[in-house]
Amino acid sequence: MASEISTSPNRMAPPESVAVLVPLALPEPYDYAVPAGLTLSPGDYVAVPLGAQELIGVVWGPGSGAIERKRLKSVSERLEAPPMPEALRRFIDWVSGYTLAPRGSVLRLAIRAPGALEPPRLRIAYQLTDARPARMTPARLRVVETAGDGFVRTVRELAEAAGVSDGVVRGLVEAGTLTPVEMPAEAPFPSPEPDAQGMALSPDQAEAAAALVASVAAGAYSATLLDGVTGSGKTEVYFEAVAEALRRGAQVLILLPEIALTQQFLDRFEQRFGCRPAEWHSDLSTRERARVWRGVAEGRARVVVGARSALFLPFPELGLIIVDEEHEAAFKQEDGVAYHARDMAVVRASLGAFPIVLSSATPSLETVVNADQGRYRRLRLEARHGVAEMPQIEAIDMRRDPPERGRWLSPRLVIEMTRALEAGEQAMLFLNRRGYAPLTLCRSCGHRFECPQCSSWLVEHRFRRELACHHCGYTAPVPTSCPACGEPEALVACGPGVERIAEEVATLFPDARTAIVSSDNLRGPAAHRAVFAAIEAREIDIIVGTQIVAKGHHFPWLTLVGVVDADLGLENGDLRAAERTFQLLQQVAGRAGRAERPGRVFLQTYMPEHGVMRALCSGDRDAFLDREAQARERVHLPPFGRLVGVVVASADAELARRTARDMSRCVPKADEVSVLGPAPAPMALLRGRTRLRFLVKAGRNINVQAFMQAWLGPLKLPNAVRVSVDIDPYSFM
Ligand code: ADP
Ligand code: ZN
Repeated sequence: MASEISTSPNRMAPPESVAVLVPLALPEPYDYAVPAGLTLSPGDYVAVPLGAQELIGVVWGPGSGAIERKRLKSVSERLEAPPMPEALRRFIDWVSGYTLAPRGSVLRLAIRAPGALEPPRLRIAYQLTDARPARMTPARLRVVETAGDGFVRTVRELAEAAGVSDGVVRGLVEAGTLTPVEMPAEAPFPSPEPDAQGMALSPDQAEAAAALVASVAAGAYSATLLDGVTGSGKTEVYFEAVAEALRRGAQVLILLPEIALTQQFLDRFEQRFGCRPAEWHSDLSTRERARVWRGVAEGRARVVVGARSALFLPFPELGLIIVDEEHEAAFKQEDGVAYHARDMAVVRASLGAFPIVLSSATPSLETVVNADQGRYRRLRLEARHGVAEMPQIEAIDMRRDPPERGRWLSPRLVIEMTRALEAGEQAMLFLNRRGYAPLTLCRSCGHRFECPQCSSWLVEHRFRRELACHHCGYTAPVPTSCPACGEPEALVACGPGVERIAEEVATLFPDARTAIVSSDNLRGPAAHRAVFAAIEAREIDIIVGTQIVAKGHHFPWLTLVGVVDADLGLENGDLRAAERTFQLLQQVAGRAGRAERPGRVFLQTYMPEHGVMRALCSGDRDAFLDREAQARERVHLPPFGRLVGVVVASADAELARRTARDMSRCVPKADEVSVLGPAPAPMALLRGRTRLRFLVKAGRNINVQAFMQAWLGPLKLPNAVRVSVDIDPYSFM
């Protein structure tokens, strides 16, 4: 799949035609004629006609010459933007070759910032002149004094800074006291200051920081695992590497799982470097997106803190990547181009010949094995910073200490919560389940409420008074009688979600101030900020939350964490179920006792003897990971073997099954490769499509991409069927 086209610019002068990659699901660039007078080089952004449309594409190299020049369509124009850096173009080729996604689809990830390639808009700002108005009022004087600092500002900014109405400013414009100047419409990017305000590091931290600084100074590819318990100061340590990269004039990318990209994190960055970094995540407005993309491309944005797709931003001078919470499954994108941002970030660093740091308190088995085998260097931070100690974790055996009927909190946990509250501390109950109840059924006939479009039960959301599917977004009002048997008021909620736990808390602790922290209850970043600020300000006593509370937050008064159902994640048959449950619960536990007051964590479990519970209680993470590694090695599962997931989906159930059967008949023979399936996927119906799965298992050194091409390349698939390929799958649904 890799192109053989040379991209060296000297071979292109003067090019008669160029190969242009467009952001559509196409494997190869198309040739276009270069109009007279236009000079194009690889990486240039161009507008080209395709069918009836005009698209933005990128010059990938000289034309292939497959079609005569006079029959080619011409490039319409070259767009004013710094060319896409060669490292990014090679990266796009690489990601496409690895994930088997069409190159054009990967390119789309890199130019998904509408408007960024349009000429920058201008706005009007005002500057002080020597003219003074005939009548000077106190308000006018304030404006004149404010504008006296020489900065140009918009009417709104001036009015705000001077504390007057817009009208006062406009009056001064009319009087000629302020004169208009044209400014770029977008706010500039402040430069993070490497030496603004570092913390005095502990000896352990200083040693780790020095090692990272040295690898930045070496200016070559290296991969380092920064492995330290939560609260050990990993962020402070990698900030030193960021500072060194800035001193050396490099751009820096800090990748975080979307959910960990919090206000708190940005505040910390600002404290350390004197200003905000550029942000990149799904909440950005289209305009903000264009601004950041452009700022990165022009080298004005020096540090980007972003979610996984920030990896495809057009950095011309990228010199360091940090992947924080590297174990997070959120780095894996499942839809469209199925890529793992952590793994691809390592590739990006290696192609760009600069260092990468993977940071985690609970590193993934993949990364641990890479460190054990010497491919990654490992730096450890063993202790929490300052007086904070690791929390004590204890299992509550729910068979011996069960809650009352219809309740979910064991008497023991309730006693511990009471104590914490009496001491003026905060408690958190963690349950990774949104809504009120995960299943609703009819007491009279047993009817269960299932999503009409998916293989999944509808979840009751009591506050919104609806039943919702968490897979496709389908919702229906909660009926008053059973739709199957007509029995009125016979519906019962089975099992708890966070809303139900909050209800129990309200009964048990009527005076406590409680907040539910889940994506349903907090819409938008402002709501998030408000609740986290309230928790920090101790306006909340009990937090009931899903995984949004598990990550990255630092609450000094939180001393008790109760995990309502520690067994929850172990129920699915995923190969990483134990590893992930361990990671998640360890993260949740890490929220407790991060300051002077020691933390305590209680795991409600029906399996206290399970390896995950034992590892959490004893704190022996490495022994747990060793056992996991051995178990996976025995059965050749990742990272000791390779997997590829293949999903065949269609709205036509029979067609999906027939296609899967046809596909299974053409599986090529290959050593050390076996293809399991087709079998109905666990989510056999999703958004109205029937789904079947294959799972390809291969030895570690097998080129699975070549195998997949040999299998799927020659297939002619019906249009109504979609086959998606997921190299190194993390989801088996
Ligand atoms: P981690 O990223 O390993 O979870 P953090 O970097 O978030 O740890 O540090 C935990 C807390 O300890 C933060 O509030 C941080 O500001 C503080 N901290 C860490 N190192 C130091 C230090 N050397 N001096 C002062 N405070 C520190
Ligand atoms: Zn659904």
